Amino acid sequence: MRFATLWQRLLGVERTVVERVRFDDREGAVVAEVRPRKGACRRCWVCQRRCAWYDRGEGRRRWRTLDLGSVPAFLGADAPRVACPEHGVVVVAFPWARHRARHTVAFEDQCAWLAAHCPRSAVEELLRVAWRTVGAIVTRVVADGHARHDPLMGLRRIGIDEIAYKKGHRYLIVVVDHDSGRLVWAAPGRDKATLNRFFDALGKSGCARLREVSADAAEWIESVVRSRCLNARLSMDAFHIVKWATDALDEVRREAWNHARRTLGNQVLADRLKGCRYALWKNPEHLTGRQRNKLAWVAYSNKTLYRAYLLKEELRLAVKLKGEPGIRLLEHWLWWASHCRIPAFVELPARSAGTEARSRTPCGRAPRTR
Ligand SMILES: [Zn+2]
Repeated sequence: MRFATLWQRLLGVERTVVERVRFDDREGAVVAEVRPRKGACRRCWVCQRRCAWYDRGEGRRRWRTLDLGSVPAFLGADAPRVACPEHGVVVVAFPWARHRARHTVAFEDQCAWLAAHCPRSAVEELLRVAWRTVGAIVTRVVADGHARHDPLMGLRRIGIDEIAYKKGHRYLIVVVDHDSGRLVWAAPGRDKATLNRFFDALGKSGCARLREVSADAAEWIESVVRSRCLNARLSMDAFHIVKWATDALDEVRREAWNHARRTLGNQVLADRLKGCRYALWKNPEHLTGRQRNKLAWVAYSNKTLYRAYLLKEELRLAVKLKGEPGIRLLEHWLWWASHCRIPAFVELPARSAGTEARSRTPCGRAPRTR
């Protein structure tokens, strides 16, 4: 490998000629003097078109790049201006840096990745940058990513949800792509107008391409989806279905607690039932030894509450299973729930049937949970 190519790789730059590398004793840093390759020079930073030279601009500039081991590294290059027929007199595009950036693309990409995966203090200390700078870098990296890749392209199966923040006083609508598992859109709000903005951004053809939309049972989501996604099937998302069952289970537990307290006057029993909340609530694979004991006590002492727990668990398994086994188990669950004589659960199939009936038209077939 040639010396210049080796330095290109070490500095993480492309389409760049490394002219000279020196060690700056005063700064204790490596400084590489560079210039764009012939094909990449004198290009307008906006449109990347090759333009006529205008002047030297502000002379030489420096960009910070990734450290070389523990030694800071910088790139130094001329920053002339060109006269673009469309954008006027502008500074040239640099193949190693984004516009207005004081850091190279490699540095900014790493900084944005760290900001997404590490605590703030770790990013600041490791890269020796202020948090405000990190914010500006993340903005540039995200904008660059959006310009290169449209997250709304090719969507077929999406999930819509609302997330509360600021202690439940504010809401975000988020849209995820079920195929890639990625967040593709988010905006503050919790209403039809905000959700319509997503479908506006997706466009008519994008909406027509959607085949599956999952959401909670909110009617405002359903009415927007029904009017905008004519080829999509709307289904309840598994999380909210299981949440209904978990809420019903808690209702049964509270009834048993009230019965023990008020009717039987047995405070010890009431306290034990109160203490079972988390054991009943949690997924069995996450139970502690003590919680498993509590569950065993419920199975022994309160058959109705234990049946409610099994109903919750069977529904959780039904929405987890894929394909035919999942459908069969869900059908069994619907039958069991409607015949279990526990009021909180008897009404659940009717509730989901209501959602089903509402979403049957014009989105197509009835929803099917996965
Ligand atoms: Zn231009």
